[in-house]
Parts: sequence; C-alpha cells; structure tokens
Amino acid sequence: MTHPPAAEVFTAQVAIVGAGPAGLVSAIALAAAGVDTLLIAPPAQMDHRTTALLAGSVAALDTLGVWKGCVPHAAPLKKLRIIDDTRRLFRAPEVLFTAAEIDCDAFGYNIENRHLMAALQARAATLSLTWIAAPALAIECDASAVTIKHGQGETRVQLAIGADGARSVCRAAAGITTRRRAYPQIALTLNLSHARTHDDTSTEFHTEQGPFTLVPLPGRRSSLVCVVAPAQCDELLVKDDAELANAIEIRSHWLLGDITVEAGRGVFPLAVETAAGIARNRIALVGEAAHVVPPIGAQGLNLGLRDAASIAEIVAEAHQRKRDLGDAEVLARYQSQRRADIVSRTLAIDLLNRSLLSEFLPAHGARGLSLYFVDRIGPLRRVLIREGVMPAASQPKLMRGEMV
Ligand SMILES: Cc1cc2nc3c(=O)[nH]c(=O)nc-3n(C[C@H](O)[C@H](O)[C@H](O)COP(=O)(O)OP(=O)(O)OC[C@H]3O[C@@H](n4cnc5c(N)ncnc54)[C@H](O)[C@@H]3O)c2cc1C
Repeated sequence: MTHPPAAEVFTAQVAIVGAGPAGLVSAIALAAAGVDTLLIAPPAQMDHRTTALLAGSVAALDTLGVWKGCVPHAAPLKKLRIIDDTRRLFRAPEVLFTAAEIDCDAFGYNIENRHLMAALQARAATLSLTWIAAPALAIECDASAVTIKHGQGETRVQLAIGADGARSVCRAAAGITTRRRAYPQIALTLNLSHARTHDDTSTEFHTEQGPFTLVPLPGRRSSLVCVVAPAQCDELLVKDDAELANAIEIRSHWLLGDITVEAGRGVFPLAVETAAGIARNRIALVGEAAHVVPPIGAQGLNLGLRDAASIAEIVAEAHQRKRDLGDAEVLARYQSQRRADIVSRTLAIDLLNRSLLSEFLPAHGARGLSLYFVDRIGPLRRVLIREGVMPAASQPKLMRGEMV
C-alpha cells in the first residue's frame, strides 16, 4: 500500500470512497484481482460495537486472506434462541435454531469491529493499493470518467465505488435519492462479561420496544444490542455501571448470571433507508451508502459485504475482458444482481420490527404463528435457517470461497 504525495492528479481504474468494512473489502478484492485501485478515505472512527458475520461473509474474508487475522478474536455462533418477552395476549413460542441442523459448525462468528477493521487494514497494507487518507470533497461524473476532489488533490477514474456510509457524497453525486424512515427506537450497545457460559448461543429477547440481543464474544463475554424507546434509553444511560449491569441482569432473566459492563456505551438512533438505485453515472454504492437497516438479525454489514463481493466480481470480469469498468452495462449488472437480496432483507427486517412495535393484535398473532410453524415444521425451518445464513439468490464468488 502506498500513500501519494500532496496535490497530485491521480488516475486509476477504480476509486473506492470510504474505508469502513464494506469499502475495505471492495478495495482488497479488486486490488487482489489486479485492478488498479485507489482508496480515498480518512481512517475509520472506531467504537465498541461488534459484528455478527454470517457464514458467507466469513467465507469471503477467508478467501481474501483477512479471516486468519480475525480468528483469535471471533466467537462462533452455534445456536440462535428467540424468546418472546412481550407481555401480550399472543406470544410466540421460544425457538432455538442450531447450526448443526443445516450441517454447519456455526451460523457465523461475532467479532469486535476494532479487530475486524485491524485485520482488514493489515491485509490492505500487503496489496498494491494506493490509500489517500483524506475525505472526498466533491465528485463529478461525465461520460468517460469520475473526477474526485480530495484533500490531497484530484483523482480521475473509470468507476467510483461509494462506500461512504449513510450520508454518502457518492450517492448524492450520482443523483440517487433515498427514502428514510426513522423508528421511535434507539439501540444502546455495550460489551459485558458474565459469570455463566453463553454456550455459543446468541439470544434475542423480543420486547414491546424492540429486540434485546446478547451475542457471544470469546470467553465469558458477550455484546449487547438493546433496542428501546428514546425515554427508556435516557433512563438506562444515566445509570452507573453497577446499576446498568443490574438492569441488564433483570432484562435477560439472569441467563448469563452476574454481569459486569465494560467501558464504552454506544447510542444509535434506528432508521431504515433505501436508495432508489445502487448504481448510476459511473458510481456504484455498497454498504450503508446503499441501504441502512436496523440491527435486527445481523443483516446490515452481511448485506454490505455481499454488495462488495458482487461489485468486485463484476468489475474484475470486465477488467479481464478489457472493458470500460464504469460503463452502463457493468452498473446495470450490479444493480440487477443485488436488487432482490437488498429489497427482501430490508422488507423482512422492517416487518419484524414493526410487528414488535405495533399495538395491532393481529400483527402479534401473525408473528407468533409464523414462529410456531417455523419451530414445528422441520423442512421449512431448515430452508429458513439456510436462507438467513446463506441466501440462495445472492452468493457471489467470494461467499462461495472463490477468488474474483
Ligand atoms: C448497533 C448496531 C449493531 C450492528 N450489528 C451488526 C451485526 O451484528 N451484523 C451486521 O451484519 N451488521 C450490523 N450492523 C450494521 C453495520 O454496523 C453496518 O452495516 C456497517 O458498519 C456499515 O459499514 P459501511 O462500510 O457500509 O459503512 P461505515 O462503517 O459507515 O463506513 C463508511 C466510511 O466512509 C467514510 N466516509 C464518509 N464520508 C466520506 C467522504 N466524503 N470521503 C471519504 N470517506 C468518507 C466514513 O469515515 C466511514 O469510515 C449493526 C449496526 C448497528 C447500528
């Protein structure tokens, strides 16, 4: 990896804007495939969040030579338990899914974002990849190229990949609009240690305010995503660590025994945001630049990594055929390959979340009944588990363990 001198006009085939996980995976995959790639991004800000990476994402990171750097920090997710903790008339039965049911060792692995990012950055540093450590300030597209102005000069490329998160400047430059709906919910995140073993089981309590999810970390540690109404979030935030630990013990019905909360609480207002398209005017969007979903069922970054794997595969193929990497055909292929996966996941998460928040009795009945059938009907259960972990319609090469 090289850092260019200041105020240079820099050309490459592809520029990736944003060095969060989706941007870094796109950059690593393209550089490893021999595409002349440039990364324009300040170093990502770190928080204490963790990410549950599903099996396909783990396979992609392994194929790219990143996963070995994650292994010491990742905890397997072998079981997934869903508990209806609402006090409503229609309550769903408790459901326990195991990875063994679909002949897998684990649904995936949970890892702190700081370790995932360190492994990605370490792998990027081994590749022929130019990293301009400055934000993109202005982006212009014309018929033959994209021009990106940044703190160190200017860059001209055939294709820009917008991995610049929910407030994407790439998306605005491409002229792509979004539809955003804010939920009356906040996700409070923190990591904790506990007296009892988590037994490699992720437990999701469904409450009237949203899910309360404990996800294993290595040892007797777990991460917590606690989705609550804003007023309740404020009440939890003013508590000191001991009081907060006690509140979590009560909410988790002492599942993990005595709890000690670690430093670093995070607060994330929840919203769903969908872009009207994900590729236009020589710009392709990946990750949260393309879609934001609430943290339910660990779908957000897993979707983002499938975006990254898909665009890398399509661009690498165009590169081999010596095609223009940002032409309309490349962009149309990317958009049509990703559409069904993004739309179906966003819809499913939105429906589940709204069925929890709804005061409408039939919505609770429908959710309870769905979980009842899923619990009782073996083949349906296995199809759903497989689909959740490895969506049949969207398995780009990297997710299948093949290089692009
Ligand atoms: C509480 C919570 C828990 C979650 N848990 C999970 C989970 O378990 N599993 C899962 O799959 N997903 C999870 N998600 C979702 C996941 O965190 C996001 O999908 C993921 O972080 C998005 O990554 P990204 O690379 O697309 O965007 P980001 O991580 O937002 O990165 C965007 C990057 O672009 C940079 N940038 C912005 N503007 C510019 C610019 N002008 N020029 C250059 N760079 C720029 C930013 O500095 C940033 O580094 C969770 C989300 C939340 C809120």
